[in-house]
Amino acid sequence: MKAEILRLLKESSSYISGQQLCDHFQVSRTAVWKVMEQLKKEGYTIEAVRNKGYRLLDSPDVLSKAEIESLVTTKWAGRQVVYYDETDSTNNQAKAAGEKGEVHGTLFVADRQTAGKGRRGRGWESPSGNSVSMTILLRPEIPPVKAPMLTLVMALAVADGIRDVLGVDAGIKWPNDIVLNKKKICGILTEMSTEIDYINYVVIGVGINVNQETFPDEIKETATSLKVETGKPVKRAGVIATVMERFEQYYEQFVQREDLSGIREAYEACLVNRDRDVRVLDPAGAYEAHAKGINDTGELIVVLPDGTEREIYAGEVSVRGIYGYV
Ligand code: ATP
Repeated sequence: MKAEILRLLKESSSYISGQQLCDHFQVSRTAVWKVMEQLKKEGYTIEAVRNKGYRLLDSPDVLSKAEIESLVTTKWAGRQVVYYDETDSTNNQAKAAGEKGEVHGTLFVADRQTAGKGRRGRGWESPSGNSVSMTILLRPEIPPVKAPMLTLVMALAVADGIRDVLGVDAGIKWPNDIVLNKKKICGILTEMSTEIDYINYVVIGVGINVNQETFPDEIKETATSLKVETGKPVKRAGVIATVMERFEQYYEQFVQREDLSGIREAYEACLVNRDRDVRVLDPAGAYEAHAKGINDTGELIVVLPDGTEREIYAGEVSVRGIYGYV
């Protein structure tokens, strides 16, 4: 009921009467009043006027189940939210829920992760109060070999979601990092549980730097946040809801064709490595090449100095610009 009341307050430009809310939810006036008091405690400014009702004057950067659910307008992506003030990693929570049969599209969100994860066992910084850590649980009916493409589907959803919210052009550093002004604002980690020919579940974790102003020494040269780049504080729940909308749209295009052909053009429009010289950090030996774009299965197409073309699979590889991170 809390998320629904919030949604009604947000959608209404004028007062909503207490009686209207009582009738809508079939509850007492005291129950409605209690929800309003809870919302005020969480930081919402709600005006209550006798004979008129309630009106929402301001929402702060609240991260909660009710706030996120009040903003999500999708059919299934993020319609159901599991929220933690603190957890080890939202990917871990999503995987545990995946084992227990939790439904497709459930979104796990934390204000802070104590053991945020990056690719290849690396860490992800996700401090309290200013970052987004979220993981969506999916049960796609596609062959397991195709699931890694979902990382690129999410990368496009984040880049486009950020443009929708802030009007800035976020880029994608192949395959899964979102950058603004050549610095990283988001990392994505996909994990899955499969049988030989069947996917039990896939979880896609997304860490977004939203309102951080400083970063630990190890990453301060390569990391940035939406606030640092735009100069404005950004409400995290709005970013989450918008990314979910974009994700649902691109996911449906992806599962229909079981490849990226439907969204490849949009992905390449965001790809910062496109038509650039790159350094491919292959565990078998780093080398330089010229990146052309991606193919329909998400590999990066590069041309080597001798003119041969190669398609590189994301698994173990990172890409850098020749002179820096991008
Ligand atoms: P990269 O090309 O950046 O190495 P990757 O895909 O191999 O990308 P990820 O798994 O996306 O790496 O991210 C893990 C790395 O990101 C960490 O090793 C660290 O260097 C960096 N990192 C950790 N936390 C953050 C953060 N909040 N913002 C930006 N970068 C971070």
